[in-house]
Amino acid sequence: MLTRKQLEVQERRTLAPFGLKAADSRGRVHREGEHPYRTCFQRDHDRIIHSTAFRRLEYKTQVFVTHEGDYYRTRLTHTLEVAQIAETIARTLRLNVDLAKSIALAHDLGHGPFGHSGEDALRDLMKGHGGFDHNLQALRIVDLLEERYPTFPGLNLTWEVREGLNKHRVPLHLSLEAQVVDVADEIAYDHHDLDDGITSGLIREEELQGIPIWRRVHREVKKRFPDIRPEVRKYQIIRRLIDLRVTDLLRESERRIRKRGIRRPSDAQSVRERIIAFGPEMERLRAPLKRFLNTRLYHHYHVVRMADKAQRLLSALFETYLRKPEQLPDTTRNRLGKEEIHRVICDYIAGMTDRYAMEEYRKLFHPFERV
Ligand code: MG
Repeated sequence: MLTRKQLEVQERRTLAPFGLKAADSRGRVHREGEHPYRTCFQRDHDRIIHSTAFRRLEYKTQVFVTHEGDYYRTRLTHTLEVAQIAETIARTLRLNVDLAKSIALAHDLGHGPFGHSGEDALRDLMKGHGGFDHNLQALRIVDLLEERYPTFPGLNLTWEVREGLNKHRVPLHLSLEAQVVDVADEIAYDHHDLDDGITSGLIREEELQGIPIWRRVHREVKKRFPDIRPEVRKYQIIRRLIDLRVTDLLRESERRIRKRGIRRPSDAQSVRERIIAFGPEMERLRAPLKRFLNTRLYHHYHVVRMADKAQRLLSALFETYLRKPEQLPDTTRNRLGKEEIHRVICDYIAGMTDRYAMEEYRKLFHPFERV
C-alpha cells in the first residue's frame, strides 16, 4: 500500500523544482491530522467533488440556460473540461497535477444561476452592500457556506487551493498551478462555446472563415478528410484548435521558466509577468476568435434576451425576500442574526441552480402554483 509519506517523496522526485509539493503546503486554517494515503491536495480534490456546490454546477448555465437543450455545456461539464486541460498542462510541465485539478474543480463554484447575467444581476443588487464577485463567492463557499464538519465551517481547504481561487485579489502573484488553471479556463470556454454556438445554429460555420486560425485548420482538415460529415469535421477542427493552443502554451511557458530562471515555486510569484502564457503569435491569432465570440455569440439577440430575463427573475426574487424575509427557508433565516440581510439573500440566490431559481419564481409569482 502506497502511503501519503511515500507519495510526498515521489512528488519530490518527479515534479519539477518549481512545482508545488504537497509536503510544503502552508496547511489549513483549522488544524487537522494528515490522511494516511492521500496528500493534502488530493484530499482537497475529493472534498470539492463531494460538496453540494459542486453538484449544483450540473444545473447552472455556461452560455445556454440548462433548459435550452441537453447538448450544451453546463458549468459542470465546463469545469471538467478545464480540469482535464489543466491536468495535461500541469503534467507536461511537471507541476503538481493534484493542486491544479483541485483549483480547476473549484474555480467556478461561486457562480450563481444563469451565468454572467446572474452575476451582473447580483452585483447590481449588492451595490452598497459589499458587492458580488464569483471568485470571492467561491471562497465564501469553501470557507464558510458548505456545512460538512462539526468543528469548523466550510471545507477547510489548503492555503494553496484557496489562494488559487483568489485570483480577483492576486492576479499577478498566482502559483504556476493557479496560472495553469486560469489559461485552461480560457482555452476550454473559447472552444466549447464555439462548438455549442455552431450546434445551436447561432453561429454558422461560413461566418468563421474570416478568422485566420479557423480558416487554416479548416483547410487542413478538409484536405485530409474531404468527405466527412460537417458534424465530424467540426469536432476535428475544434480538437486541433485546442491542441494548437495547448502546445503553444507549453512551449512559451517553458521558455519563460528558463528565461526568468524559475527554480522554486515562489520564484513564479515574485516576477511581474505571467509565466504560463501564450507566445506572441498565438496571442495575435486568438484575438479575432474572441472578438467573434463576443459579438456573434455572447451578444446574439437570443442570448441577450435570455440574459435579460434571468436578471429580471433574480431581481424579483431578491426584492421579494428582502421585503419579507420570513419567506426564506429556515437554514437561511437562521443566518439573519449573524450577517447583513443583503448578504444572506445573495448567498441563498447565488447557491441556486437555474432550474431551482425558475421553480422558485413560479412558486412565488404564479397564483395557482403550490408554494
Ligand atoms: Mg470557468
